[in-house]
Amino acid sequence: MKRIEKVGEMDSEARRLVADGKSIGFVPTMGFLHEGHLALAGEARKENDVVVMSIFVNPAQFGPGEDFESYPRNLERDAALAEKAGVDILFHPSPEDMYPENSSIRILPGRQADVLCGASRPGHFDGVLKVLTKLFHLTRPERAYFGQKDAQQLAIIETFVRDYNFPLEIRRIPTVREKDGLAKSSRNVRLTAQERKDAPAIYASLREGARVLRETGDTELALGTVRGSLGSIPGAETDYAEILEYPSLRPLSAESREAIIAAAVRFSGVRLIDNILVPLERKTSC
Ligand code: AMP
Repeated sequence: MKRIEKVGEMDSEARRLVADGKSIGFVPTMGFLHEGHLALAGEARKENDVVVMSIFVNPAQFGPGEDFESYPRNLERDAALAEKAGVDILFHPSPEDMYPENSSIRILPGRQADVLCGASRPGHFDGVLKVLTKLFHLTRPERAYFGQKDAQQLAIIETFVRDYNFPLEIRRIPTVREKDGLAKSSRNVRLTAQERKDAPAIYASLREGARVLRETGDTELALGTVRGSLGSIPGAETDYAEILEYPSLRPLSAESREAIIAAAVRFSGVRLIDNILVPLERKTSC
């Protein structure tokens, strides 16, 4: 596995690979790799000649008072895991090299970023689109891999790539979970032992809501179930819990084909997100 730190070197390496007719699969991450990230890399390995993974804790997507400084990092461990997962190039630039000056151009997401994490983390998705625009240009992928765990991010990126004709395909990868249902996350290591025991109740609450939604079709009842259940997790504070249409992230309507039940929950210093997709059977009139 080749390691590249410099933006210019990544650019010339990707140009060379594309000129040689190689397809590039790209897996953007913030590192502290777990099996969720490795599932993305595994899928990229199957579908492309060359797999590029980036590890970059992107300062542009953290707000003031968020956990940019305390976000877990371990590049050497990540490099070993990435190599084992079949990554060919590990790109780990410095913030100074990625953002040598504060660009006067901003990329702003639309209404899909006004809800869920976008509402509680203002500017977060601006930072995500900023870094991905640069990373897509630098790595020239034919396909880029994203986890359903960050469902809002995925929905916004799909819209961005489609509306602005980025020449690549976005591939969705299902959420990888611990045995007890907790979605794998780099932030899980920052939970206390007790919080780690309580955290699987997030997914259990979403599943309970999904069951109610499927059985009754009653969005309000399902949402009440999720909120009630999240509210009873000891030591946890619900940041949001919502049911929306996916991937538009608009309110559900009679035409909606799929719903997302999404929540963000805070345990002392650690904010965890999770979601579940629920296919909706709507009667079509003829
Ligand atoms: P992050 O390092 O948290 O920015 O995540 C990098 C990529 O890995 C994103 O596309 C995430 O959606 C994806 N990812 C993170 N956790 C999981 C998981 N548990 N299952 C599947 N994909 C994940």
